[in-house]
Amino acid sequence: MKEGQTFMAEGLAGLTREHLSRLRETFRGEVNTPGDKGYDDARRVWNAKFDRRPAILIRPTGAGEVATAIRFGREHGLEIAIRGGAHSNVGHSTTDGGLVIDLSRFRGVTVDPERRIALARGGALLGELDVAAQAHGLVCPVGVIGHTGVGGLTLGGGMGRLQRRFGLTIDNLLAVELVTADGRTVRASESEEPELFWGMRGAGANFGVVTSFEFELREFGPLLHRGVRIYPASALQEVWAMVRDFAAVAPDELTVIVSIGLALPVEDYPESVAGQPIVIVSYNHCGDAASVERDVAPLRAGPEPVSSSDSSQEYLEVQTANDLAMGWGSRSYIKGGYANDFRPEALDALLEHAATGSAESGFGITLQGGAMGRVPDDAMAFTGRDARFEMSAASDWEDPALDETERDWVRQAMAIVEPDAVAGRYLNEISESGPEETRAIYGDGKLARLTGLKRAWDPDNVFRLNHNIAP
Ligand SMILES: Cc1cc2nc3c(=O)[nH]c(=O)nc-3n(C[C@H](O)[C@H](O)[C@H](O)COP(=O)(O)OP(=O)(O)OC[C@H]3O[C@@H](n4cnc5c(N)ncnc54)[C@H](O)[C@@H]3O)c2cc1C
Repeated sequence: MKEGQTFMAEGLAGLTREHLSRLRETFRGEVNTPGDKGYDDARRVWNAKFDRRPAILIRPTGAGEVATAIRFGREHGLEIAIRGGAHSNVGHSTTDGGLVIDLSRFRGVTVDPERRIALARGGALLGELDVAAQAHGLVCPVGVIGHTGVGGLTLGGGMGRLQRRFGLTIDNLLAVELVTADGRTVRASESEEPELFWGMRGAGANFGVVTSFEFELREFGPLLHRGVRIYPASALQEVWAMVRDFAAVAPDELTVIVSIGLALPVEDYPESVAGQPIVIVSYNHCGDAASVERDVAPLRAGPEPVSSSDSSQEYLEVQTANDLAMGWGSRSYIKGGYANDFRPEALDALLEHAATGSAESGFGITLQGGAMGRVPDDAMAFTGRDARFEMSAASDWEDPALDETERDWVRQAMAIVEPDAVAGRYLNEISESGPEETRAIYGDGKLARLTGLKRAWDPDNVFRLNHNIAP
């Protein structure tokens, strides 16, 4: 091979140094390849399990450059990964030997307080949206860690602390602008390309690169009222009966989570339960301080907790409180589903399983319903909002030697509750992907509709690093 035609150590058929220099000349944004000074930093994603080596990372600065990057990837037969906040649980925003279109130069949120609308750029982070909206006493309901990307979270659904009052993030999405596989810029909303907009809300990563999200904002803040009660394992059945019955009548302002896991590290828990399996009931109340006492009273009616605390905190503080604990470089595995109730034997088995876990692993059940439950399930591609509870087992650890142990713990926890699961899976809380997972996420009816959309907008499956709808 002639000098000038050899391309990097990684080597890519058909891609020469000339192609690359032309790309660098055309681009205002950064282009990173192996051997470049910033390459190793640029290729990192949140989950350290996905230590991949893309052939090229491009950071476009505008929609035109996104289109150029897509065209370049297609011309050279490169697998294309789209990166928003880089938090994919499946490693979908990176690729070995392919092209990463990294939207980290596409950050920023602007708010129109009169119209109560936020415009978030395609690579914006949740923290930016929270801060920009709260500056005007407004909010868009999003997830619970500030450095997660608006992109992946929204295109999959968007669950969080305010979901029962204001719905999922997609329930507040008014429009998106995206660059499609053939390089066109398209706007989708209820009135423009409505079928595409239906698919964007739950399967959005399949149809293009979103450069802009338009959200409706709600009046809220600045305080969130919160409480945590810790119970010994022996109280689980009673605690569960209390939460399950409350679920049917709980006000929209309340989000309730039941967690089952080990009380580790021991210094963080009361001596009577330290090191043992425990049950934690936590709530977030986003209404008036005056109504909290009355609204959470049913959660005090059950067994006596070993510890109990209630407080009020600024919403912005709560939204970033775990940003460091859940920082970049974690290794993580998650598997989720939906349920309407749990068999008593499943709860007992979860406790037994918790005893074999670690400080990092746990099982959580989150109350759905409220505003998110009042949107009809067929209104969007997102599936699962009819269930009373969302459930997931998860672990986050650092030592690569624990990869299999932690993964297997999560899988076994979910195997225990599999008989309790109802239709749908939340795609943002699954660490595996493939045709089986895609079918489980959407169900047969929605999958057929999404397949039609995929054939119309991305027949060559250019956007396939996602929970893929095969065209
Ligand atoms: C620490 C942590 C906390 C989390 N908390 C929550 C939570 O509270 N609520 C919740 O619902 N989920 C939560 N999640 C899950 C999260 O929603 C998903 O991991 C989501 O995919 C992350 O989006 P991202 O943009 O950061 O990820 P990325 O890895 O950048 O992208 C994920 C997927 O979305 C696609 N994508 C991203 N941006 C765009 C875009 N602009 N246009 C087209 N496609 C795009 C990518 O191609 C990829 O397929 C959390 C995940 C982590 C790791």
